[in-house]
Amino acid sequence: MLENFRRKHDYLVCIDSDGCAMDTMNIKHFRAFGPQMIKVFGLEEWQDELLERWNRENLFSFTRGMNRFLGCFSLLSYVHETYREIPGLADMQDWIENATSLSNAGLKQRLAEAPSELLEKALEWSNAVNKAVGEIPEEENVPFPGVLETLQKIHEVADIAIVSSANPEAVHEEWTRTGLMPYVDVVCAQNVGTKAQSIGYLLEHGYDKAKVIKIGDAPGDQDAAEQNHVFYYPILAGDEAACWKAFDEVYFDRFMAGTYGEVQEEMQKRFNDNLSRHSDS
Ligand SMILES: [Mg+2]
Repeated sequence: MLENFRRKHDYLVCIDSDGCAMDTMNIKHFRAFGPQMIKVFGLEEWQDELLERWNRENLFSFTRGMNRFLGCFSLLSYVHETYREIPGLADMQDWIENATSLSNAGLKQRLAEAPSELLEKALEWSNAVNKAVGEIPEEENVPFPGVLETLQKIHEVADIAIVSSANPEAVHEEWTRTGLMPYVDVVCAQNVGTKAQSIGYLLEHGYDKAKVIKIGDAPGDQDAAEQNHVFYYPILAGDEAACWKAFDEVYFDRFMAGTYGEVQEEMQKRFNDNLSRHSDS
């Protein structure tokens, strides 16, 4: 899709999927990531506290959206320091620090080279998470209120790109099933590259950087915008619908009028304040 993409407008709006346009992030953590941590690693004794901690670290603080294996390592380290020894934690740390890819494939490769009981468990957990995510009924994976209407409005005057680190099949399925895809001009999912690289590729189509904005919900989205010197509009965790409404009614018009730069700093501040309220405690 990226090769066939042609710029139609002077303006480009890049939109993240999970936790930004699609209300899919909380549910995955509440029903799959956290509970499977407890189950696979046998942490039932401290379940309530650990689930709360998992959600805070992965959803409601500056580590929102971090790689799943970093989240896993962080929680196990906490358990190791606080409750009981986690044998093999050094293996996991070594893999995390040296891996070229923190993925199931990368983990399998590592296990073939250097067996580790804890890393076997991490792979088992990751597979269990995928299975549990697959069992979430699709009708529960829907866009946040107001997203469809906002995309319709944007698409009349600007190009729309999905810029996401999710897998492309999931993005296509979710955006097609929920009626958002007709308003999308190009999809840049994890197969295209990182979010920063994807924005970089899109800029090669001749957009002026002052006419490009990234809408996202996680520090990774903000970084991708900053690296490419384009604008960033945050969808705040816990306040998503109101943020989309404000973009639709106020900030998109500012972006088109060339005055979004005046509020960019305030937007960054709101984003940082929202995540720092819950960070490290
Ligand atoms: Mg996201």
